[in-house]
Amino acid sequence: MLYFTADSLPLPELLFINNEFVASKSAERYHFHYLRLRVCTISELGTKRTLIRRGASCRLTLIDPTSGSVVSQKVPIANEADVEAAIVAVEAAFPLWKKVLPRERQRMLLRLAELMRKNSQRLAELSRLTLGSPYRSFGEFEITLGADCFDYFAGWTDKFAGESFPQEDGILKIVRNEPLGVTAGICPWNSPCATIGMKAAAALATGNCFILKPSEKTPFAALALGELVRDAGFPPGVFQVLSGDGSTGALLASHMRVSKISFTGSVNTGKKIMEMAAKSNLKRVTLELGGKSPAIVFDDADIANAVQWCSSAIVANTGQVCFAASRVYVHEAVYEEFTQEYLRVMAEKAKVVGSPDDPIMEIGPLVDAAHFERVAEFIERGQSDTGKLVVGGKKLGKDGYFIEPTVFVDVDTGSEIHNEEIFGPVAIVNRFKDEDEVVRIANSTRYGLMAGVFTENITRALRVSSELDSGMVGINCVSMLCVQAPFGGTKESGIGRECGMAALRAFTETKTIMVNMSYGQHKR
Ligand code: NAD
Repeated sequence: MLYFTADSLPLPELLFINNEFVASKSAERYHFHYLRLRVCTISELGTKRTLIRRGASCRLTLIDPTSGSVVSQKVPIANEADVEAAIVAVEAAFPLWKKVLPRERQRMLLRLAELMRKNSQRLAELSRLTLGSPYRSFGEFEITLGADCFDYFAGWTDKFAGESFPQEDGILKIVRNEPLGVTAGICPWNSPCATIGMKAAAALATGNCFILKPSEKTPFAALALGELVRDAGFPPGVFQVLSGDGSTGALLASHMRVSKISFTGSVNTGKKIMEMAAKSNLKRVTLELGGKSPAIVFDDADIANAVQWCSSAIVANTGQVCFAASRVYVHEAVYEEFTQEYLRVMAEKAKVVGSPDDPIMEIGPLVDAAHFERVAEFIERGQSDTGKLVVGGKKLGKDGYFIEPTVFVDVDTGSEIHNEEIFGPVAIVNRFKDEDEVVRIANSTRYGLMAGVFTENITRALRVSSELDSGMVGINCVSMLCVQAPFGGTKESGIGRECGMAALRAFTETKTIMVNMSYGQHKR
C-alpha cells in the first residue's frame, strides 16, 4: 500500500504527538519562550544568531537545493509547550509500554520496517525535496538502512536478558536491563531515515518511549513516519515526532524529565548537548559526531578495489557522509598507479552530478547555500595555502548548489583541509613511505570515526587496524556500517555506540537486585 500516491497530496507539515498530527502551540507563546531563553541560556547554547535572525517566526523555511526555491514555510518549530505535550504523553504511555510483551513490541517494530520498505520511494522523495539525494545512489539505501535497524532490533526484544551471579556468598545477584523512559533522538540532515532507525529502533526494542527531533533541513520523511508508526500499532505517546531547529533540540537536551539524548550531528553541537545534559539532570548521552576518515593503500593492495571504495566513499550523498574516506594515503611504490586511476574516476564523476530526478545522475547538490559556501571556502583556502588542486573545485550549473567532485594532492598535514571535516565531495591524496609514519599521520586529527586499510597482507591489515585510533576499521573496504556491529567513533567523533548490542546498553540502565538467600531459611 502506498500512503503517499500523488504529488498533489499535502506535504507532512504537522507535529506527531500522542499518535495525532497536531499544529504547534501559538506563535506568541513561542516568542515569549524565546525571549526567556534569550535571557537565561541562549548565549550558552550558541543558538542566539539563529533565533534572533528568525525573530518571531515559528516555522521552518525549507529550500530545494537543486534550485534554491522555497519548498515549504509551514513546518512548525516545536516550542516549549509542544515538547511538554510530548513528554506528558510519554509519561502516560511508558508505564504500560514497558510491560508490553516482548513479542508484541517485536511485531510492531517488524511491521514498521515493512511499512518503511513499502513506502521507501515516497519517503526518499520527501527527503530528496530538501536534501537533493538521488534515489538510486542514496535515497533507497538510506531508507533501507533505517528499515533494517527496525528489523534487527525487533529480534532483540526478548533476548537482552540481563545477568545473574550465583549465591555462594549467600547473596544471589540478579542484574536487570531496564528502560530509561523518556528518550529522545536529535538527527542530522544528511541521512534522515537511517539515523532514525539507528536511534528509535534500539530505544523502542528496549521498552523506552522515543521523541524524534529531525533536522530543520530535512524534516519531511520523519513527519511522514508518524502515519506509519500509528499503522504499525504503536500505542499513543510511544513514538513521537517534533520538527524544529536547534531551539527544539536544546529544549529536549536541557529538559529535566528527558532521561536520554541520542544525538547525531556536528562536534560543536555535540559538546553543547553534553553540557546541557550535565547542567540539567545528567541525562544519558550518546554522541555520533563528525569524521575525517583515512584510507591507507599499501604497496600490495588491489588498486582497482582501493580506487573503487575510496572514490565511491567520498561522493556518496555528495560527500555529506560522516565516515566518508576524505584522506587517502598511498604507499609511494603504487602512488602513481593509484593516483592516475583515482583522479580519472573522480573527474568522470563530475558527469553524473545533476538533478536527482534524472535517473542517470548519481550525485546531487550540496544541501543548501550556507553549506555550499562553507565547502567552496574550504576549497578556496585549500588552494591558497596548502595542497595542489588536481580535480574539480568548481560550482556546476547556474542554479542550485552543485559542485564538482574535488581532489587535492600533496597536502600539508598541518593544514585545515587535511585536518577538518569538509562534509562535501572533497578528498586529499598524500603519499607515504612506511607503516609507522602513515599510522601516526592517520591518527593525527581530532576525529576517530572510521578508517580503511587496503592490503593483501592480513597480518599487516590486523596490525594496522589495531594501531588506528578509530571506532571502525574496514579491511579492503571503507565507509560502511553493519547494523549488527557497533557504530561510532573515538576522540571527538563521539561517545558511545549505535547498532549492535552496544545500542541496547545505551538505552538501558542496569539494576542489580541482591537476594539474601539465607533469609527465612530457619523460619517455618
Ligand atoms: P548540527 O550539529 O548542525 O545539527 C544536528 C542536529 O542538532 C539538528 O537536528 C539540529 O537542529 C540540532 N541542534 C542544533 N543546535 C542544537 C542545540 N544547541 N541543541 C540541541 N540540538 C541542536 O549537524 P548537521 O549539520 O545537521 O549534521 C552534519 C554533522 O553531522 C556532520 O559533522 C557529520 O559528520 C555529522 N554526522 C555524524 C554521523 C555519525 O554517525 N557519526 C552521522 C551523520 C552525520
